[in-house]
Amino acid sequence: MLKLKVASPDVAKQHLETLGKRFDEAMSAWKSPFAGYPPFTSDLKRVLQSERDFILVGDVSRLHKVVQQVKHKAGPLDHYLRNRPSAKSGVRQADMEKLITKLGEIFDYSKFIYKGVGWNAYKLVGSYSLRICPYCHLHHVNYHSQKAGDPKKLELRPPLDHFLPKSIYPYLAVSLYNLVPSCHQCNSSIKGDEDPSETMPHPFDTSVALDMSFTLKGSPLGIAGVTHEELGLTVTGNSTWDEFATFFHLQERYQWYAPEVTDMLKRKQFRDESDTVVQSLMRADFILGFDPLDYEKRALGICLRDIARRQGVL
Ligand SMILES: [Zn+2]
Repeated sequence: MLKLKVASPDVAKQHLETLGKRFDEAMSAWKSPFAGYPPFTSDLKRVLQSERDFILVGDVSRLHKVVQQVKHKAGPLDHYLRNRPSAKSGVRQADMEKLITKLGEIFDYSKFIYKGVGWNAYKLVGSYSLRICPYCHLHHVNYHSQKAGDPKKLELRPPLDHFLPKSIYPYLAVSLYNLVPSCHQCNSSIKGDEDPSETMPHPFDTSVALDMSFTLKGSPLGIAGVTHEELGLTVTGNSTWDEFATFFHLQERYQWYAPEVTDMLKRKQFRDESDTVVQSLMRADFILGFDPLDYEKRALGICLRDIARRQGVL
């Protein structure tokens, strides 16, 4: 997994200014008495106000502390969000839904992804200069979606994953450290509303290492004509690898790209069988298909680099 770092203090500053202003406006318009809301609503509001800055730009450990505080002061809400619609929280469902709608207004993600002037999701994604999904390292972090109001047109939208899903943590819907640029497949097709916080390291948490490495099953000799099923890839890593790889179905997904690995091995084979003049012209980056230093910026980059190393290309 690629580890992410917020690009600069200026990013956090802009994020806090823009989202903090929206937070303040929504909060000042939300006054007690909270008729029609759950009984713990005023306690929850106090937590959100006192933790405002940490919610918006606090790092991973701060976000976990906020979650604990919300659980402490608004336990039935946490229980309801994790189990709805069948949850029995002891609070009227209509009251709980009203509160959740209010949280959606205070931490309004739809406003953040609106491409207008000022700080927004497009600018946040741009600040990372990230080309490849940090979860799978297979796909680019962009996708085209139908333009709102004109389904015949496509537009490039920022794919941001809520690492802690906003369906369970609506108060973290616009938190800087909860917005992870990722590919559409990891974000929408696989991760969805799953809460990975118990089992998976956070991409922003640099204290937990998570390395990918790749090997080939069998001998690379006589590679021409070998199908991708025969080629096979093995994905290995450190102790946290298994849960991460299983969660994102990485073994199966990497298997699909074995033909690209075969292409590289064919180039290597061609070089090995050529005379010394051709061999001197076919440098490592020609065989690999990109500059080895750019492996974090290329789809399949880590995989191709690892296999190139093991095959003596690098
Ligand atoms: Zn991905």
